[in-house]
Amino acid sequence: YERKVNYTHFLKYIMVGDSAVGKSNLTLQFVDRRFSPNSEFTIGVEFGSRIIDIDNKQLKIQVWDTAGQEKFRSITRAYYRGAVGAMIVYDITRRETFDSLTSWLSDCRKYSTGDITITLIGNKSDLESARQVSTAEAQSFAEEHGLLFFEASAKTGTNVNEILINLTIYNQNLV
Ligand code: GDP
Repeated sequence: YERKVNYTHFLKYIMVGDSAVGKSNLTLQFVDRRFSPNSEFTIGVEFGSRIIDIDNKQLKIQVWDTAGQEKFRSITRAYYRGAVGAMIVYDITRRETFDSLTSWLSDCRKYSTGDITITLIGNKSDLESARQVSTAEAQSFAEEHGLLFFEASAKTGTNVNEILINLTIYNQNLV
C-alpha cells in the first residue's frame, strides 16, 4: 500500500557560515532533535526534512547542510538554488566567525535565485563564559542588514525550534 504524502508546500532552507560553528548540529536538531557531541569535524549531514503545521497548512521543510564544503569555499550555486530561507551561523565564542558574516551575506544575496529570508544565528549560547560577541552587537548587525536574529544552542536545543517556526511563519506568505 502507498503512504499518502500530505504536505501541501515545500520549503528549502540552507545553512551557511564558517567551519565548526555548529551548522551540522543545528541541522540535526532542526530535523531530528539530536546533538552529536563528538563531531570534531563536520558530521556530513547533507540534508534532512521535517513537516511543520502552521495555520492548517502542512509545510515540508528541507534543511540543507554544507557538509564541509565551506572549508574550501566551494559551495556551489546548486546549493543556493531554490532556497527560500538561509541561516547564516556564527559561533558566539569565536569573533572571527562573526567577522565572516558580510562575506556569507553577500554570497547569499549573489547566488540565491529568488527572494530569500535570511536568519542570523549566534550559536553555542550555552558557552556564555567564553563569549566574544555581544548580543547587542549582533542585534544591530542584523537590523542593519534586515535579518531575523536569534542566539541558540545546538547542544541544549535552546531556541532551535523557535528559529525554524519563525522562519517558516515568515516564509509562509510566499507559498
Ligand atoms: P559545522 O562544521 O559548522 O557543521 O559544525 P559542527 O556541527 O560539526 O560542530 C562543530 C563543533 O562544535 C563540534 O565539536 C560540536 O560538538 C560543537 N558544537 C556545535 N554546536 C554547539 C553548541 O551549541 N554548543 C556547544 N558547546 N558546542 C557545539
